[in-house]
Amino acid sequence: MSEERATIYYDEDADRKAIENKTVAVLGYGSQGHAHAQNLDDSGINVVVGLREDSSSWDAAEDAGLAVATPAEAAAEADIVSVLVPDTVQPAVYEQIRDGLEAGDTLQFAHGFNIHYGQIEPPSDVDVTMIAPKSPGHLVRRNYEAGEGTPGLLAIYQDATGTAKAEALAYAQALGCARAGVVETTFREETETDLFGEQAVLCGGVTSLVKHGYETLVDAGYSPEMAYFECMNELKLIVDLMYEGGLAEMWNSVSDTAEYGGLTRGDQIVDEHARDRMEETLEAVQNGEFAREWVMENRAGRPSYTQRRQAEMNHDIESVGAELRELFAWSEEEAESEDEEQE
Ligand code: NAD
Ligand code: MG
Ligand code: MG
Ligand code: MG
Ligand code: MG
Repeated sequence: MSEERATIYYDEDADRKAIENKTVAVLGYGSQGHAHAQNLDDSGINVVVGLREDSSSWDAAEDAGLAVATPAEAAAEADIVSVLVPDTVQPAVYEQIRDGLEAGDTLQFAHGFNIHYGQIEPPSDVDVTMIAPKSPGHLVRRNYEAGEGTPGLLAIYQDATGTAKAEALAYAQALGCARAGVVETTFREETETDLFGEQAVLCGGVTSLVKHGYETLVDAGYSPEMAYFECMNELKLIVDLMYEGGLAEMWNSVSDTAEYGGLTRGDQIVDEHARDRMEETLEAVQNGEFAREWVMENRAGRPSYTQRRQAEMNHDIESVGAELRELFAWSEEEAESEDEEQE
């Protein structure tokens, strides 16, 4: 394995001047949109939120004290357009805003899919950048309010002005990300690693591992309740340990028996065969095959997506899990009310 370490930027690397007299249009007021709009506004940056006229978020944005306009109006007014509508909607929204992009403006993203796979082709006289917090929007907002930061990514796809990076760093500072650290990457690297990660490990790999484990136990005659606890519920405890202290903390925290069993059997389950499949999955991400499939799937009205999603909901582990989580609901409510009492 080869490795080349990334550059990480912090608050002191950013100069507020690169953004302070500019207007930022934040398109969308969902997970990322509400956090970017509110954090930038609190940082004293001029913000206008761009929403459809019938958007249910219109009132929420205005209640937060933000100016709201249609995406076309917001983009025309702005120097920096932060595109934070869902990735599948971005090409259509781009058609509404493209006339508002003037030479020297910035088109900014929080994920590289549409630029990297050519679904949006910006004019050559605008900057194209990415500031992507590495966490859901509610945490980006909560951390900012607590005076803390959320780690993020920075990438420059097109630097028409020569100041794209300085401006992106200032945006990251206003968003609070530079307090924690902003890792430099490229649109290609961000997009391909994000897709691979969610397919092979995070969303696809893990759910498949959980389902196969559950099915193996239930088919062998063990109770669905026991199978659920072992293969799904306990996963959170293991992941929390890895999140806090890496593999070492996880192995140290489980029993020696679990450690020996895991170390000897893990690689037999997720073996060279799985590794080969991972390489194929990565190849389909790299050569654009997955992107084409997903774009076509959306154009066709998502038939496969809908059917697979339904099948997943109908898996036995879902009904067993729902019942068992009900049993736990009281203990979580109790813990939450204890937390509140302490606040
Ligand atoms: P979201 O689904 O939470 O919100 C999207 C918002 O866009 C909606 O709330 C709505 O206000 C608006 N919207 C939807 N359809 C629209 C349309 N047709 N026209 C105009 N506005 C419309 O989206 P999100 O999860 O915040 O994702 C935004 C971007 O941030 C994406 O590029 C995503 O990949 C990226 N991102 C998300 C996360 C995350 O954790 N959610 C993390 C990093 C990056
Ligand atoms: Mg403009
Ligand atoms: Mg990701
Ligand atoms: Mg993703
Ligand atoms: Mg056990």
